[in-house]
Amino acid sequence: MIVGGIEAGGTKFVCLVGTDAGEILAQTRFPTRGPRETLDAALAFFREAAADGAPAEAAGIAAFGPLDLRPGPGYGRLLATPKPGWSGVDLVRPVRTALGVPVAVDTDVNAAAIAEARWGAGRGTASLAYVTVGTGVGVGALVDGRPLHGLVHPEIGHVSVPREPGADFPGACPFHADCLEGMASGPAMAARWGSPAEALRGAARERAVDLEAAYLASGLRTIVYALAPERVILGGGVINLPGLVPRIRERLAARLGGYPGLAEHAIQGFVREAGLGQLAGARGALAIAEAALGAA
Ligand code: ZN
Repeated sequence: MIVGGIEAGGTKFVCLVGTDAGEILAQTRFPTRGPRETLDAALAFFREAAADGAPAEAAGIAAFGPLDLRPGPGYGRLLATPKPGWSGVDLVRPVRTALGVPVAVDTDVNAAAIAEARWGAGRGTASLAYVTVGTGVGVGALVDGRPLHGLVHPEIGHVSVPREPGADFPGACPFHADCLEGMASGPAMAARWGSPAEALRGAARERAVDLEAAYLASGLRTIVYALAPERVILGGGVINLPGLVPRIRERLAARLGGYPGLAEHAIQGFVREAGLGQLAGARGALAIAEAALGAA
């Protein structure tokens, strides 16, 4: 089976053609511009792959959000997004019309969770949380092997976190100020410290890593208790800060306080770094395409 995947990101699009066995046959990436020209570029890639003998039988889209996932005419449309020109854009219909194949969509973070479970750091698990920390904080979740949906999709990056003692930074989320994303995203760190986190050195970086670990551990406690994941996978640029992941593990253990006393929570492998890097979302889109084919 040959399927197509699109990771529709706020800054770049990644498109893949691959097989259901996970083999990647063709790929491209390009910056996100206006909706029309960006979607046209994706469609041109799939037409070219088809001409080269790899026609996609279904397509999956892993998109930035918020997204309308409710069955009906709005399915696959972006909801109100701060990204200029993209609010209300239908991601699914143009692809379905141009390629004439079933098309399904999910969030980029749910797609990454699916891909990590299948090919990456989540292999062997059916329930996992994928947490990405970069320009925002996004969380994808698989529960019993299925990506978690509700009315639309969860927005776990916007859960509340307790303010650390002595912290007076107001928070960077335009909607909630001091939610998890508002306290722990890359832009939040840059605003708090007056410099991007990766540019900090010495004691300043130590302080920044320690506070970042504290906020992320608070967010992870909510995730661990609400979703009961078998594993938590961390991705995104901020996670690469030296020393951050071990500090998150220590802080999370302290936040859980030994409750409910599961041996699985105590092992180092419970919280791991992502295994698929930049292609996690796009590979997840291939898996979403397979599901679309199965449902068609
Ligand atoms: Zn928020």
